Amino acid sequence: MPPRKKQSTETLKGITIRVVNSLKGPTPADEIVQKILSIRSETGKKLNSTIRTYLKHEIGQTLVYLDKQTIVPIALAFQGVRFRINLDEIHEKGYLFYREFEPFLAELNPDTVQFVSKDGTSLKTDHIKVENKRKQSYTWQQTEYFSLIECFPQQKIQVGDSILVSIVQYQPQPIFCLEYETASQRQEKKIHKKNQELANILFGLLENAYDEYIMIREAIPTAYCRLQNPRDYPGDNWKKVLKTDNRLCYMDWRIVYPEAQTFRDIFMDKPESEKEMEIKQKQAKLSPEKAKRIYCWKVSFSYNPDIWRRLELQGLNTLAEFDHCLREAFQYDLDDHLGGFWRMIQRGKTNRFREIQIADIEPSGEGQGAELRIADLDLQEGNLLKYVYDFGAWLEHTIILESVSQPSTQAKYPRLIDRNKPRYRYCEDCQQKKSKTIATWVCIECSNEEQRIVLVCEDCLNKYHQDHSIDRILY
Ligand SMILES: [Zn+2]
Ligand SMILES: [Zn+2]
Repeated sequence: MPPRKKQSTETLKGITIRVVNSLKGPTPADEIVQKILSIRSETGKKLNSTIRTYLKHEIGQTLVYLDKQTIVPIALAFQGVRFRINLDEIHEKGYLFYREFEPFLAELNPDTVQFVSKDGTSLKTDHIKVENKRKQSYTWQQTEYFSLIECFPQQKIQVGDSILVSIVQYQPQPIFCLEYETASQRQEKKIHKKNQELANILFGLLENAYDEYIMIREAIPTAYCRLQNPRDYPGDNWKKVLKTDNRLCYMDWRIVYPEAQTFRDIFMDKPESEKEMEIKQKQAKLSPEKAKRIYCWKVSFSYNPDIWRRLELQGLNTLAEFDHCLREAFQYDLDDHLGGFWRMIQRGKTNRFREIQIADIEPSGEGQGAELRIADLDLQEGNLLKYVYDFGAWLEHTIILESVSQPSTQAKYPRLIDRNKPRYRYCEDCQQKKSKTIATWVCIECSNEEQRIVLVCEDCLNKYHQDHSIDRILY
């Protein structure tokens, strides 16, 4: 009998990392997958996709994607890359940084990093841990820092100065070169251009991500490596770039859209008075011309777009009025349930949308954002909103702004100008009595019992189906 072939004990993940680390330059992902499959002497669609998943998990750790198809090991990609630490805050323990540095460390142990000056002499930085004073659930209890106290003894360190970092070497031992740059030495034009480029790359990554966030540890290495010249004079640190670009912000370990921050403000931090101030500020700017403008909306029931209404409202109409108008148009209850509006913003060229809540409206017309006027929303033709009636039953409607125009002098606004042609169904209790009444409800209880759909009118509902569970019919 031939000796049994010794089974390899290396895991698929292990092989994947080993193959990536052995690459000599940028390599197509397909080629890497083939290489791994040949080592395993196995094939199969499932194995193929498992390897691709492993590769994705390693972004920012052992590799980066230069584009959708091209992988390069991080040690190679980072070689010579330069970035900036902005000295923007003074800490009681001196000038500290770490968060700015973290995405460039990948899996390196911070204590193994060697810092050198431009002429190669070793610089002393302390890796320290500081307890956080803020005791909020979403901030870390402890923050790590590198201390700069002994790094630049001749330098009078000031806020606004920077440290320029170059990655001299990543493996086997990480070496980072630090140069001091004063605020007056900043090459603002170059910095501005680099900042813009970095922000654009990050925004592109976020727009194309499946979720409404990207991980800092993946996105920052990827974005820096995708810069046209990552080894040139560096722009501001990613943290500063994110703070100054209003399309993006960062929260904990993620980069998110700004509304994620707003959401947190609403629920965690911001006092009620400040929110009211913001709404008041927005309202102050409305000109008479904008107030009179006519906004024409087509509102479709999301679960059946054949059911729709076309409404006209003016710029000065509030979202509370819009909500009332929608309730009337769809014959919803005027005295019960919440209504809510969201803005829908397409994410890049994908078919996914960001949903930004703009108002919750009670039947009384009160609620968060209820006082916002339509003109305050800065909408353009083609923009989308979502309206939900009844947060329990959650009836969703898609609203498109079809046109913005000048008012006609005779008309009164808001008004319903068109609707789908209703295909009425009739009440069966009434039909038995030979009269034709439009059914407005499905009796769920009777439908279940009789194994067919039981349609009833308002009157018969009150007479024969009291306390039965029902569903409204929309026409
Ligand atoms: Zn009836
Ligand atoms: Zn019934």
